[in-house]
Amino acid sequence: MQKAIITILFSCLISIVFAQKQNTCNHISPAFKNKYGRMETYVPDSNTSVKTIQLNFIVFQKNDGSGNYQNTKEDKSKMDSLLWWVNGFYSHNIPPSDPIEGVEYIKDTKIQFEVAGYYFFKNSYAHSKDDVACFQKLADSIPETKGRLNVFFTEAYYQNNQGASVGGKAQPPTFRDIDQYLVLFRPYNDGRINFATTLTFAHELGHCLDLMHTYDGSETCNTRDDDYLWDVFGKTSEKNCPHKSGFFLDPFKSPNDGLTNNLMGSTNVAFYLSPLQIGKMHRALSLLSIRKYVKDCPYNTTPIEVKGTERWDFNIRTYSDIVIGRNDTMIVTCTVNMADNARIQVKRGGCLIVDGGEITGRCDTWKGVEVSKTKNIFNRRKKLQSIIIEKNGGKIEKAQNKLVIIGKD
Ligand SMILES: [Zn+2]
Repeated sequence: MQKAIITILFSCLISIVFAQKQNTCNHISPAFKNKYGRMETYVPDSNTSVKTIQLNFIVFQKNDGSGNYQNTKEDKSKMDSLLWWVNGFYSHNIPPSDPIEGVEYIKDTKIQFEVAGYYFFKNSYAHSKDDVACFQKLADSIPETKGRLNVFFTEAYYQNNQGASVGGKAQPPTFRDIDQYLVLFRPYNDGRINFATTLTFAHELGHCLDLMHTYDGSETCNTRDDDYLWDVFGKTSEKNCPHKSGFFLDPFKSPNDGLTNNLMGSTNVAFYLSPLQIGKMHRALSLLSIRKYVKDCPYNTTPIEVKGTERWDFNIRTYSDIVIGRNDTMIVTCTVNMADNARIQVKRGGCLIVDGGEITGRCDTWKGVEVSKTKNIFNRRKKLQSIIIEKNGGKIEKAQNKLVIIGKD
């Protein structure tokens, strides 16, 4: 036992002494490769709380105010109903047309969307030209739109090509903090709300959440790639990846025809999202730019458990407590954003090293770090202590209580 304790302390000390200043967030750690960078890690369960993404609905009319949706109760309620359908798709996932053995069906993605503001611009250029830089500039002229995902409604055609039947486009997320957007084009903005509009909107939001197409090879067909969606294409990909495309073809006709009802597919009954696709979206909400649009700080009761020595060389927004176990070490070299209800628990013998990184609150403050009480005359045998270290400029910020000593662990 004594030996075990010495070994544990030693491994923690090794981490402290030899940890280099590494505040480049380069995603090369085993912790990223094997755990936090993987879609599987983020597949929601019944404890996962809903993440709501805040949107701006931004409408471009002609200079005289005609064209496109109007700033009226009636038209706003049409746009609301569009989102009502989209939220339905995300909370009542439809079973797959082509089931794959061993794949669980998840009904609720635990992702929802909310309109935080409507903005109407009288601007004939934006009304009739596909020019995102201009759309974005107009949106930025209203400071309160910041921090929400812009949805642009224009009567322009995709790439200003009148023959284009493309209904929308979206900016996928990146590790960099970019402004994302979604555009809905003319075919859907003539005042009618129809099924195809809602489906296009849901599909484009899928792109904003890091999903790509299942029918054109943009989701990888390489089974050795960590992002291979085996629960969409099968464990071997040869015959079923990419899926076939065809808007008017029926994916339910045959379960093995490579034509499916996936939301990121190409049929007109495309609603289904697989567990890994849902996990991929939640991964984006932790690691990528889209995370900044999540409203408030949703909190899951299932903690993240640090196992062994984990170097967190990535920026992450978390939605739960973090527990560092008795033998375990967490080294933070980037930024960890904590939910306001969340804490980091360091069990006796556990080790938290903030090495050039930062742990801070996403919604103002967070609960802080909890450690076991220190050794005293009554628990002399419990030599193992929790270790918290800030080094190389590393800091713990916005904690309600920077350190909470608790009686037991
Ligand atoms: Zn698409």
